[in-house]
This record gives sequence, C-alpha cells and structure tokens, in this order.
Amino acid sequence: MMDAGKQRITILGSTGSIGVSTLDVISRHPERYSVYALTANSRIDGILLQCERFHPKVAVVGTAEAARILRAALHERGVKTAVEYGEEALCAVASASETDAVMAAIVGAAGLASALAAARAGKKVMLANKEALVMSGQLFIDAVSENHATLLPIDSEHNAIFQCLPVSYQRSPQQHGIEKVVLTASGGPFLTRPLDSLDKVTPEQAIAHPKWVMGRKISVDSATMMNKGLEVIEAHWLFGIPARQIEVVIHPQSIVHSMVSYVDGSMIAQMGNPDMRVPIAYALAYPDRIASGVNPLDLTKMGHLQFEKPDYRRFPCLKLAYDALLAGGATPAILNAANEVAVQAFLEQRIGFRKINDVVARVLDRVTTERSISGLESVLMHDNIARKMANNLIFS
Ligand code: NAD
Ligand code: MG
Repeated sequence: MMDAGKQRITILGSTGSIGVSTLDVISRHPERYSVYALTANSRIDGILLQCERFHPKVAVVGTAEAARILRAALHERGVKTAVEYGEEALCAVASASETDAVMAAIVGAAGLASALAAARAGKKVMLANKEALVMSGQLFIDAVSENHATLLPIDSEHNAIFQCLPVSYQRSPQQHGIEKVVLTASGGPFLTRPLDSLDKVTPEQAIAHPKWVMGRKISVDSATMMNKGLEVIEAHWLFGIPARQIEVVIHPQSIVHSMVSYVDGSMIAQMGNPDMRVPIAYALAYPDRIASGVNPLDLTKMGHLQFEKPDYRRFPCLKLAYDALLAGGATPAILNAANEVAVQAFLEQRIGFRKINDVVARVLDRVTTERSISGLESVLMHDNIARKMANNLIFS
C-alpha cells in the first residue's frame, strides 16, 4: 500500500465507540489517511477484523495472552500486522516516528500515559479521552506547548467551542473579547425522572442515552452529569478559561453543541446532528473540511430547541467537579479516580445510582495528602490513593 503524502494515524482505543467512528471517517478518505496502529484492551475479535480491513503496521492489546491469540489469528489470515501488548507498547505507538496523528480514545485514566506520550512526541493529538486532561491539567498543556504538538478536541462541546473561537485564539479569553463559553448538556436519561426514584435505576436504564450512542462509562457519566463536570475542567485546560467563565446549560435536543459569548453581545454556536463523526472529521482534516458521512441538519424538521439551567440537587456531580476545578492541583485527578471506581461499581450493581456522587464526595473530603502535582508519577499517586479510598467506602 502506498502511504506517501498520507496522514498516518494511530487510534488508541480503536474498538470503542470513538475508535469505530474514527475508522468509519478514515475509510471514506483512503487517499488522505493510512492507519499506522490500532489498539484494544480485550476485544480481540473486534481488532482482528479492523486489522484485516485497515492493515495497520502495529496492533496493541492488553495482555500477553491476548497478543498470542491475535498474532495466531492474523497469521492464519495472512495479515502482516505486528502485535504488541501493554502500556509501554501503547506509548510507543503513540509516539512512533511513523505516525503523524493520534486519536486518544481509550476510556479513563488508562489512557493518560499514551495520550501524554503523543503530546511529548509533538504529534497532532485528537483528544477524546477527557479523563487524561482532567487528571493531568497543566502537565498535559505544557507537554503540548513545549513539544509543539497540536491539540484538537474531539469532545463535541469542545470541538464546537474550538470552531467558534477566533482562528488566532491564544488561550486568553480577555485578549479576544470573550465573555464566557457555554457548554450544552443533554441532561441524560434521568432529566425529568422523579428524584426519589433515582435510587432504583438500573445500569441498562442509565446507559440508554436519549441522543448519543457511547461507551458505558461515559453514558453513566452523562446520566449523573459528571460527564459535564469533567468537560468543564477539560474546557478550562483546553482554552485557558477560568471556571467562572464556563457555563453549563441543559439542551435536551443535542443540536447546538456549544457556544462562545463575546463582549459585544454576539454568541457564536456550532450546530449539527448528534454524531461524533462530525468532530472526528474536523480534527482529522483540520484546517480543511472533509465529508464525515453525517447528514446535514434540516432546520425545518428540527422543532423546538430548549435551554435550561441545571439543577445541582438532581446533578450533584456537576457541582463537585466545579469545586474540584476551583480547588486545583490533584483534586480533579482525585475526583476522576473516585468517579471511575464508583461508576464501575454501579455498572456491576454493587452500589446504587445515587451512591456514585456520594462516594466521590466522601473521597474528596477524606484525601488529606498535599494535593499538588509535580509530574505524571504524582498524578498517578493521587489517582491510586483515591481509588483505594473509593473501594474501601464501597466495600465498608
Ligand atoms: P468505549 O468504552 O466504547 O471504548 C473504550 C476503548 O478503550 C476501547 O477500545 C477499549 O478497548 C479501550 N480500553 C478500555 N480500557 C483500556 C485499558 N485499561 N487499556 C487499554 N485500552 C483500554 O469508550 P468511548 O465511548 O469510545 O469513549 C472513549 C473516550 O472518549 C472516553 O474518554 C470518553 O469520555 C470520550 N468521549 C466519547 C464520546 C462518545 O460519543 N463515545 C464522546 C465524547 C468523548
Ligand atoms: Mg461531550
């Protein structure tokens, strides 16, 4: 296959919802993109099919055993993809000289080291893995600027804001006459459900998102609105905007993906059908535009668009995230880790839905270590402490 002149892409988390959508967009533009590496944690069948179709140079999986199975299956099918496993291999494919751009689409803290490796190697980093940025904050932003990496947001809200900011935007809202950014939130599946019935909701009900089809973890985060809280922190780091200039509004139709409000009274919004292939195509082709496979909006069929203020009693996680951003240092990493543990416990039906915010709040109250961040190790140390504490609370 001739790769000359093509953008060579690594997809971290290629078997997930974002990974699959990324390959869908790439497959529409074979003249522009080639796939250098694909990675999956445990879905060997999924990555096997992807390797047969896209012929990456390297595939990375979670364990030695998974690697052995994949290697044998690829060999049988005559596919020449090399197979590696583990976190070091993830970092290697994220920073390899043979890749130009990295889609960071692993879910949760597990994606931090590889996303950071891509930034440190000066790649074009297409960031879906918001947890990585929430945890590492300034460390990640410094890695991007010191190594001349390009950071492009995939999260639909942040991609929308990116599109609504001036092209020359320099991480300073004052300098560009920006009053605030407004993140839209769908409100998830429990927006109107009676509060006292939330104790009894099942994982299936929580992951049945009304507008987006996504991985299980982010779907539960959408139901608690911790997802929006993580996105507030993400917006702070991506755009250099203080918490007081980041507003959240609930917009159940998910047509307006976010907006930027300027001092002259203008508000610029980005709209589109709710499909992640839009921000993915934007980032892949930036600063060009390419077809994504998504239908254009039909304004006459759109109906009413509603916007309302979020209620912290219904969505306490949103408030916890704002407070964590204001507290700074390792607090967002602690919030994120406690949330990952609590969401997993909810998905495994070990705790009820309303316990998620309870566990996160109690972990935030109890961590007493110095909460400053000096490097990746200290981020991971805080992540680890918070996970242990969350697990103890769940089992006690
Ligand atoms: P998903 O669960 O569908 O996929 C996760 C991917 O990560 C899979 O490929 C899986 O193999 C891999 N993975 C999981 N655990 C791993 C581990 N320990 N080590 C290595 N790889 C591992 O998740 P998703 O919905 O695609 O979300 C991915 C990221 O993108 C999340 O951070 C999410 O918040 C963000 N995001 C997703 C959407 C969406 O529409 N799905 C929208 C905005 C942001
Ligand atoms: Mg989002």
